[in-house]
Amino acid sequence: NKLTNEELQNALSRFTLEGEVKSCSPYGSGHINDTFLVEAGRKYILQRINSEIFTKPRELMENVDLVCRFMTEEIKKQGGNPERESLQIIKTKDGSLYYEDEKKNFFRMYLYITDCKAFDLVEKPEHFYESAYAFGHFQKLLSDFPAEKLHETIPHFHDSPQRFQHFLKAVEEDKYDRKKDCEEEIQFFLSHEKDLSYALALLKKGELPLRVSHNDTKLNNVLFDANTEKALCIIDLDTVMPGLSIFDFGDAIRFGANTGAEDEEDLSKISLSLPLFSLYTKGFLEACGSSLWEKEILSLPEGAKIMTLECGMRFLTDYLQGDSYFHVKRPRHNLDRARTQIALVKDMEKKWTEMKEEVQKYLP
Ligand code: ADP
Ligand code: MG
Ligand code: MG
Repeated sequence: NKLTNEELQNALSRFTLEGEVKSCSPYGSGHINDTFLVEAGRKYILQRINSEIFTKPRELMENVDLVCRFMTEEIKKQGGNPERESLQIIKTKDGSLYYEDEKKNFFRMYLYITDCKAFDLVEKPEHFYESAYAFGHFQKLLSDFPAEKLHETIPHFHDSPQRFQHFLKAVEEDKYDRKKDCEEEIQFFLSHEKDLSYALALLKKGELPLRVSHNDTKLNNVLFDANTEKALCIIDLDTVMPGLSIFDFGDAIRFGANTGAEDEEDLSKISLSLPLFSLYTKGFLEACGSSLWEKEILSLPEGAKIMTLECGMRFLTDYLQGDSYFHVKRPRHNLDRARTQIALVKDMEKKWTEMKEEVQKYLP
């Protein structure tokens, strides 16, 4: 539902801004929230939080606030500029982190980060490297943050063993009589149950630490300095939660180092690009290698494999359950997506030695 001008003006009037509001217009190419650029005495970003996806705006904003304040202190210690290197929340006139109107629209305000650009697609390898460096730097800035203080705003988000159970249930129920189309794919995930529980088992044993995970490591969630084209700041902290560093890394590899599209029908186009894997590893570990545990560095390839398995299994689960979660544009769209993820895992398994050797280079 579209916001009316009255609703926007009302929301704007609730925040403490410098100067008079001169304009407020739709901004950026995000798909989740409604984003507006506000020009007053200085520039701001106003967002209506997507409340269909984020059902707990209070917890969400508490997470963003905790993380931003911690990063701000770290950036100051390092002599950086927190207004350009981190999001800064602008509170409402009554001191709240967000404003809720009568129609249950949730609004929040940030300082606008000036002289930046965002890219929707990797136009050159440097972008991928910079993005890796930025997410590594984010991890580094938050390496002493007590991650258990964050709310789990989307419970069991990367609980792969639980997602495996949901998958089993979908296979068993076979409500849409689609099992017959995907016996081989089902077998593939059944034979990878152990892989899926690898990381959470290590977390339980204390061999991997709980970290702040970003959970949406897309390129356009990194702001680049408009002049130097160096990554400057990580934004879009809506899905910040307690999690694993290797999952943020792994998901970025899953969608960024695949040589084909996520729904490619010609599986011969799907593979893991080792050069891109190496480049992302380099950027990520140059930024945060010194603050990660040895076991985290060594488990980065597992992170990539688990994220790909988990994602593929979710596509197949959705196919079996009648495509109720992911939007589909053709009848077997989710099955095609599951197949690309399987093909990518198979290629990772072929290149496993190289992947492991690559990360070992960065051990202290
Ligand atoms: P979504 O969840 O919809 O992707 P984002 O928080 O990523 O929302 O914001 C959408 C876009 O708005 C970003 O890709 C970026 O271009 C721009 N943007 C968001 N916050 C800021 C900010 N503080 N300063 C400058 N640009 C921003
Ligand atoms: Mg975004
Ligand atoms: Mg988002």
